[in-house]
Amino acid sequence: MSIQFDNSYAALPAAFYTRQAPTPVKAPRLVAFNDDLAALMGIARTDLPDAAATFAGNVIPDGAAPLAQLYAGHQFGNWNPQLGDGRAILLGEVLSKDGKRRDLQLKGSGPTPYSRMGDGRAWLGPVLREYVVSEAMHALGIPTTRALAAVETGEPVIRETGALPGAILTRVAASHLRVGTFQIFAARGEIGHLRALTDYAIARHYPEAVGPMGLLRAVRDAQAALVARWMSVGFIHGVMNTDNCAISGETIDYGPCAFMDAYHPNTVFSSIDQFGRYAYSNQPDIVVWNIAQLATALIQQVEDKDAAVEEATEIVHAMPALIRSEWERLFAAKIGLSAPAEGDMELVTDLLERMAANQADFTNTFRNLSGNSARDQFTDPTAFDDWAEGWQARLVGEPDAIARMNATNPSVIPRNHRMEEMIAAAVQGDYALFERLNAVLATPFADHIDDADLKRPPAPDEVVPATFCGT
Ligand code: AMP
Ligand code: MG
Repeated sequence: MSIQFDNSYAALPAAFYTRQAPTPVKAPRLVAFNDDLAALMGIARTDLPDAAATFAGNVIPDGAAPLAQLYAGHQFGNWNPQLGDGRAILLGEVLSKDGKRRDLQLKGSGPTPYSRMGDGRAWLGPVLREYVVSEAMHALGIPTTRALAAVETGEPVIRETGALPGAILTRVAASHLRVGTFQIFAARGEIGHLRALTDYAIARHYPEAVGPMGLLRAVRDAQAALVARWMSVGFIHGVMNTDNCAISGETIDYGPCAFMDAYHPNTVFSSIDQFGRYAYSNQPDIVVWNIAQLATALIQQVEDKDAAVEEATEIVHAMPALIRSEWERLFAAKIGLSAPAEGDMELVTDLLERMAANQADFTNTFRNLSGNSARDQFTDPTAFDDWAEGWQARLVGEPDAIARMNATNPSVIPRNHRMEEMIAAAVQGDYALFERLNAVLATPFADHIDDADLKRPPAPDEVVPATFCGT
């Protein structure tokens, strides 16, 4: 077994984490392994004589320094002074072939000092869901944590619905630093630790950034770009708490996330999001709120507080316009335009309003703009025809419109009802749909003529009304 670890987080002060080994499981069975990602990380399958034991945490690979990270966070707007990895263990970091440093983390690997009331475990459903959706996001070109492996543990986990098969996901991330990692030290007044963390985050993610406000600016830019990308594919994260907001700008923590089928701005899936705080159209506002929390935390270490508050305010206040301009660029491309011009956003907004009024499928409407069946997505197709007249006029002078749309609008996304079907089959030991979804979603901009079943929106009796956290 050889994974070339190079652990920097474990070299930080002990206050940042608790050293904690995974708890071995009874009968680990490898059910997924990501060869492409492994190759990028210099890990060959042949290096792993017992991959199941390794990715179950039964065998600690040489060079690993297992630990649970400490953090806090605002959950649904409410401050929680201490969270931390309650069911995840960082094995260590790998310097990948592309020169990037990546965390290798087991999720569902047993209790830690931060487990609170939880069992430290995960069941198979959320593990496979995160595997498929995070890899699909990567294939869509959206910054995200990735999935290296999944194992079934051979042990049941007990959830509200009864005993379910246990599983562990091996997650790969640029890092697991979150807004909440900064918040905990700021809230405790541990300014030395806050400074050390700030220096560490800058060195690891934004070496060109200068000082706490430089870091704030860099994270703001990354998160602004990220949320615009989510919006552009109809992705709803579902639990945008500050502990699920990554400093790297990657999408992290696929819990109750889902892609929209029929477009409606108020769409919410998460069963725990009673008030729609994390609804589709609220995501740009919430990410600004999260960055404001990061600003509040980072300021604590600055000597000249008045100047820092002024600068941080300016940085945060500029964020909505950054999100908006990225959103405009992406949605202009979605309707085939090389760059947004005067009047284009009215065109986009008009289309979206007509889609909402006509239960038009978000993915299929945009994808089919390059063909001739977008109108079929509308309950009243003439609502589309009326819009398309102005659009066609605008497309004159955009010779690359079709290619641009097909490179921006995926033909296939991980639809919720297929994810549920995939999980139900896997629980019965049938991984065919899991494997097929991974294969098809790896090239989301191809036509996938033979995969019409995966492109089809849910029939009324297939609609999944709510999604659940991975607990
Ligand atoms: P999440 O909503 O998944 O981001 O998790 C929020 C917090 O709850 C984190 O501190 C998790 O580590 C913790 N947590 C979630 N599920 C479990 C579990 N089954 N056992 C222990 N801790 C958990
Ligand atoms: Mg989390």
